[in-house]
Amino acid sequence: MSTPESAGALLTIDLNIIRSNYRRLCQEMGGKDCAAVVKADAYGLGVGPVSKALWEEGARTFFIAQIDEGIELRRHLPEADIHVLVGFLAGSDNIFKEHNLIPVLNTLDQIKRWDDRGRCDLQIDTGMTRLGIAMSDLDHIPSLSNIDILMSHLACADDPDHWLTPKQITNFTRAKDHIPHQRASLANSSGIFNFPAAHHDLGRPGCALYGINPTVHQNNPMENPVHLQGKIVQIHDISDQEVVGYSATHKLQAGQKIATVALGYADGYLRYLSSKGVVYIKDQPAPIVGRVSMDLISIDVTNIDCHEGGLVDVIGPNNTPDDLARLADTIGYEILTSLGSRYLRIYKS
Ligand SMILES: *Cc1c(COP(=O)(O)O)cnc(C)c1O
Repeated sequence: MSTPESAGALLTIDLNIIRSNYRRLCQEMGGKDCAAVVKADAYGLGVGPVSKALWEEGARTFFIAQIDEGIELRRHLPEADIHVLVGFLAGSDNIFKEHNLIPVLNTLDQIKRWDDRGRCDLQIDTGMTRLGIAMSDLDHIPSLSNIDILMSHLACADDPDHWLTPKQITNFTRAKDHIPHQRASLANSSGIFNFPAAHHDLGRPGCALYGINPTVHQNNPMENPVHLQGKIVQIHDISDQEVVGYSATHKLQAGQKIATVALGYADGYLRYLSSKGVVYIKDQPAPIVGRVSMDLISIDVTNIDCHEGGLVDVIGPNNTPDDLARLADTIGYEILTSLGSRYLRIYKS
């Protein structure tokens, strides 16, 4: 049982912010419905608490990637509609039935095996070449009497000017006219904000629920629910020319003060952030100096008031997952889904 005293770092997730992000997305959909994408443990934030909060907020349609994730989500939400993106994989018939999961049929073969036995989704590949039935196979799709969600996924919705998106929207409209269905769904988080023409009946946001900016070139309309605090476990007053960390990549000067903080790449603090990342103590930036180790980072706290046992903001108001992603040359999604299992997780609701 982890406690604030025994943990190296504290991860606080504000479920009220996730709920308000969901409301914001529904508003952006102009009153149309919004599903919630909670794959990969709700983007690393914890599928149980997150999906329950979204259910309380009115979400009824949930998407996960893998069948195992569907089984887990069913334990948390006995009544939700759970849609499995990866598809109706061979040998999984009984699992779908036992856990009352809805498959996204992605291939003609999956449609054949499904054999029109009940409610399902159908995914069309409108241009991403990842999952779904090719546009050239539209005429070969056997008739299905109970398609709930007809869907496709946008590859470039984060870029409002990308050539592929209008093509995908046109393709999807063609498929929609062709195939009888209950609800049509195309837009992910960025699609909801950047492409009203992709709204259709149901939005399918993931990252924006968790505070990642879906609009890239504009201010973030979402709020960050993640606060990650690392614990200072030692402070060094540098009296001579010294070096810090593995491979001695960073030289120190006399008079500097260095704090060692108990989190590292084993906790998802990417090693790429060596000598690049920055944490905050109150509002003062403390840069990472030297290599990120497995369990520890070193930060420059010269002229910053701090003490052993004190906490530093590794993710917070001054350094959001998007900020960290920029420094790490990746995307906020990867920062969130890398959040480690050693953190003491605290849910605010
Ligand atoms: C992950 C995923 C989403 C959510 O995408 P975001 O960019 O996180 O909003 C929606 N639809 C499908 C098919 C996905 O795989």
